[in-house]
Amino acid sequence: MALELRPNCEFCDKDLPPASTQARICTFECTFCADCVEHELHDVCPNCGGGFAPRPIRPRGEWRDGTGLAHDPAGTRRRQLRYSEAEVAALVEQLAGVDPRER
Ligand SMILES: [Zn+2]
Ligand SMILES: [Zn+2]
Repeated sequence: MALELRPNCEFCDKDLPPASTQARICTFECTFCADCVEHELHDVCPNCGGGFAPRPIRPRGEWRDGTGLAHDPAGTRRRQLRYSEAEVAALVEQLAGVDPRER
């Protein structure tokens, strides 16, 4: 199954189209923008506590059979954080100083 290219930042709701270089994901595909990851979340996913990596850009072209954006289009269901600002801040405070490899 292909990575779900979610359409927005869960924190600030900014659009993150498939070609965006600002999308960041955790291992569960929780998706945020680079600004929020850097300034609000400090590399702590508020849903799972993991770190983030830049989301790779899926090619527009079908360079191999069954690949590309036309074959596996970006997701359309917008996500919104299920935790309050206080809950997010508490987890960030707990984990921001811990390297993701040690969480
Ligand atoms: Zn954001
Ligand atoms: Zn996560």
